[in-house]
Parts: sequence; structure tokens; C-alpha cells
Amino acid sequence: MANRLEGKIAMVTGGARGIGAAIARRFAAEGAEVTITDIDGETGARTAADIGGSARFERVDASDPDAVADSIDALAARTGRIDILVNNAGIPGSALFPDVSLEMWDRILRINLDSVFFGCRAAIPHMLRQGQGAIVNMGSISGLGGDHMNSAYNAAKAGVINFTRSIAMDHAAAGVRINAICPGPVATDINAVPMGMPTLMDAWLKAIPIGRFAQPEEIAALAAFLASDEASFIVGAAIPIDGGMTAGAGQPDFVRLVREARAEAAN
Ligand code: NAD
Repeated sequence: MANRLEGKIAMVTGGARGIGAAIARRFAAEGAEVTITDIDGETGARTAADIGGSARFERVDASDPDAVADSIDALAARTGRIDILVNNAGIPGSALFPDVSLEMWDRILRINLDSVFFGCRAAIPHMLRQGQGAIVNMGSISGLGGDHMNSAYNAAKAGVINFTRSIAMDHAAAGVRINAICPGPVATDINAVPMGMPTLMDAWLKAIPIGRFAQPEEIAALAAFLASDEASFIVGAAIPIDGGMTAGAGQPDFVRLVREARAEAAN
């Protein structure tokens, strides 16, 4: 593993498990001092202990603006800086519109989108003072296009992506790079329910050209690259990492269909 983040001070929200935990682990392996934040205190503390070294955990609700600002200010006060922030905390929320209550809409937008605003608002002044910094916001392919039964989540993730683009333009010349990652399906707890439904999984896997879900470590590799100086000219990008899912124009999988038709004809 290259030490691309040697000496960097990093924070990863929603880092107790899943993609966030994989990012924190990868950052630490690349030489960063990582603070994990999450609402799940027990898992967060365990993950930080497991990563070891200078990794630490703080219980912070990413949807609470004061708590987010306090934790970022405290990190900057303790270490003198914050070089990397990954706004990763997020929750799913599926319902057929218009059966989306205002309560659900507010909750999904608050945790997936407002949290990114809170994190960026708190970290950017420190990064401007330093004259450098990198922020990685967790979008989704669900922010690049529509999905069935996912209106609130898709609106939130689309918001993350365009918010990222806008603030990236504002601060690029001052040395602060802000980008978004747009994963396709990843094998984490967020997908625990559908992953337990064989018919759904069969259809879902057929929609992914590479034929499988991503592992969290594959998303972490992109986050580490974007956070590193190797990505010095990448600004305001929303990068799909989706096994080819958004490469398509919606046409059926003719390779599979032709193969199946030939097999049928041969029988
Ligand atoms: P996960 O459920 O495994 O992990 C999410 C983490 O966020 C958990 O540790 C949870 O406790 C934490 N969290 C939830 N609400 C929080 C809050 N208010 N404050 C702080 N922490 C909070 O999910 P994951 O798959 O690792 O998802 C991470 C991010 O990646 C999310 O933003 C998600 O929308 C996004 N994403 C996931 C996928 C996927 O298929 N897994 C695809 C695209 C995007």
C-alpha cells in the first residue's frame, strides 16, 4: 500500500461499518490519522480499535449541525488542521410515491443531504486557512438517475452531487478540492434486506454488467485516490463506481438474451 496520505488528518462520517469503515481503514493504511464519527457508538469504537494506531472514534450525529461543527473544530484545535473530510453517513428509504410522508422525506434529506452541507460548512473554513484540503462526499448512482420507489433518497443524492459541484467551483482556486463518489450497489448492511431476497437479487445482479455488487474496499480505493494529492486536478467530479451500471442506455442485455434464445432453440 502506498503511503499517499502520510501525516494527513482525516475524518470519516458514518465510519462505524460498511463503506465508511472501509474508507477509514484504507486511509489509516495510507498513513492518515483518522477520526471516525457515527451514531452507533459501540460499533464505531470497535472499528477504531480494530484499525488501531492513531485511529479514534467519536459519537456524532451527522444530521446535527452543532455536533458536527463541534467535532470538526475540536479536531482542528487538537491537531492544528483537517486535511480530509469524507461525508459518508447515509440511510436508505424506499416507498412508492406519493406514499412518502413528510416525516420520511425530511429524515432522508436531513441525513443524506443536510449532513453533507453541515460537514462542508464546518470543514471548509479550516481548509481555506490551511490553503489546502480535500472533501469527498458520498453520492450514489441514485443521484445520477431515477430509481423505482426511491424518490426521497434519489432527490437527496442528486442534491449531494450538485451541491458538491457548486462548492467545488467556489473553492478550487484556494486549494480545496471537493468531489463526489457515486457507487452502484455495494455489499453492506444498507442492502441487507434486498440481499436476503433471492428473486430480487437475481434481477438486480442482471442489471449490473459486471454481475456482482461492489465490496466496500473497492469504494474505499477511490476515496483514497480522491483524497490524495494524486487527484490534484480532479475538482467537482461525480465519479460513478458501479460495475458498468450507468454505462448503459437502458437496453436489455442482448448477450444474455441471445445466449438464452440459442439454448432454447437447441433444446
Ligand atoms: P451502512 O448502513 O452499512 O453504513 C452507514 C453508516 O452510517 C452506519 O455506521 C450508520 O450507523 C451511520 N449513520 C447513519 N445515520 C447516521 C447519522 N445520522 N450520523 C452519523 N452516522 C450515521 O451503509 P453503507 O452502504 O456503508 O453506506 C454508506 C454511504 O454510501 C451512504 O451515504 C449510502 O447512501 C452510500 N451508498 C451506499 C450504496 C450501497 O449500495 N451500499 C450505494 C451508493 C451509495
